[in-house]
Amino acid sequence: MKYIFVTGGVVSSLGKGLAAAALGTLLERRGLKVLMQKFDPYLNVDPGTMSPFQHGEVYVLDDGAETDLDLGHYERFTSGRLSQLNNLTSGQVYENVIKKERKGDYLGATVQVIPHVTDEIKQRIYDVVESTDADIIITEIGGTTGDIEGLPFLEAIRQFKDEVGHENVAYMHATLVPFIKAAEELKTKPTQQSVAKLREIGIAPDVIICRSEYPIDNEIKRKISMFCNIKPEAVVPFVDIVGSIYEAPLKLYDQNLDSIICERLGLETGEPDLIEWRNMVDRIVNPTHSVKIGVVGKYIELQDAYKSIYESLTHAGAANDTKVEIIRIDSGDIEENGAAKYLEDVAAVLIPGGFGDRGIEGKIMAAQYARENNLPYFGICLGMQIATIEFARNACSLIGAHSTEFEPQTPHPVICLLEEQREIENMGATMRLGTWEAKLTDESRSAKLYGSNTVNERHRHRYEFNQNYKTQLEENGFRLVGTSPDGTLGEIIEIPDHPFFIAVQFHPEFQSKPTNPHPLFKGFVAAALANRK
Ligand code: GLN
Repeated sequence: MKYIFVTGGVVSSLGKGLAAAALGTLLERRGLKVLMQKFDPYLNVDPGTMSPFQHGEVYVLDDGAETDLDLGHYERFTSGRLSQLNNLTSGQVYENVIKKERKGDYLGATVQVIPHVTDEIKQRIYDVVESTDADIIITEIGGTTGDIEGLPFLEAIRQFKDEVGHENVAYMHATLVPFIKAAEELKTKPTQQSVAKLREIGIAPDVIICRSEYPIDNEIKRKISMFCNIKPEAVVPFVDIVGSIYEAPLKLYDQNLDSIICERLGLETGEPDLIEWRNMVDRIVNPTHSVKIGVVGKYIELQDAYKSIYESLTHAGAANDTKVEIIRIDSGDIEENGAAKYLEDVAAVLIPGGFGDRGIEGKIMAAQYARENNLPYFGICLGMQIATIEFARNACSLIGAHSTEFEPQTPHPVICLLEEQREIENMGATMRLGTWEAKLTDESRSAKLYGSNTVNERHRHRYEFNQNYKTQLEENGFRLVGTSPDGTLGEIIEIPDHPFFIAVQFHPEFQSKPTNPHPLFKGFVAAALANRK
């Protein structure tokens, strides 16, 4: 087993996760089996209870783990399916250590960061090794070198190489090489200092990924090489990408990142087979058509809050030889100014998941506009609940219909809590989470898009479609076309008498890949294209 640890210096949001994922792509396409994971230094046990404003999207895995959005990159850039073992936080580490202390596992000892916390971190790596047949594990350490809370993780990965042998461990450090306008110069000092911080702990990077706005010439490389004590070839420029993030593996391949790593770890493979990947990138970067799709949400100003949805639209666009221009619409603005103003010139509308009652009425107005104006509609999770509420109110005259999440006293709870969820008091990890099977009716549009009447999709929600209203809604042209296998939980709704109206209780965006777009997204973008203004 070989191990690659990825750290970051200077600033956050460097694209460290992207660089790690791109390395994963390159190694996988050399025929190696790669597993990727993230260690996060914050104290939350998982990001499930954090606001998207704090942390971007929560990415859900098959087993229901609520994880960092970098795991989404990993699953999109490699074929690995990840599990709860692959996202470790300080919260989990301390929770385990304290449980063990109370049980008496450390009886007699003073429990300390070194060795008890660092042992717990290393143990997770060994647990992952047990659970996988991968050749290489790439572990990204969240945060920036110099952060107090990241120290135990860095110390753990330092100790780790002594346990498994130096020849089996490579360290890749990502830094920023800023351009100072007044001097018209790229500056290497921040890189030097962040590498010095790492070396203080005892980690000497084998590769430095230098994120920069401008090309990095040999002079700069030599300087970084000398001050950071690594070979000039191992200084890998990672210049801002203008086209698509999926170009990252190709850019890093051009800089020989994969061969440097393979040489360092003694891995003998051929060159990576990048034909499929290059074709996909070409379809994303040079499409024939273009279409505008509106996404109506409440975290619209944040690039990362609906990360997987935006990525899925891009994948589906490539499959339709189309550039999807995403128009981000704040549901609060629709509440103030009406839906027409914002939806008039989009070719389709998507309402993503969400929690809390801010902006709900604006989303309901958007769904009504889409239904009444034959605008293709794709609802995801909350977007499905919204479509149901809208239909009940405006097509079935169920005045005041709502979800009990937002209006506990509603006369028509078309979306409500299941019996099991009523008893729950803790907010963390208590939703309906992870992959569950759904059965679809054969004649539904969804079953045709999937090419199957049984699907497995990932979930993250608490509230459910209230089947007591099914008949009444269906009499007015609504269809519940997908349910859990026992028929109790609503999974997919459609309006057949509409160019494209599909809304799902699950999150298809967590399974879309650039080389294998999700069928519902593909169908949605095709419908948008057909409806182009
Ligand atoms: N808030 C809704 C629920 O809990 C929808 C959740 C979501 O969109 N992920 O059921």
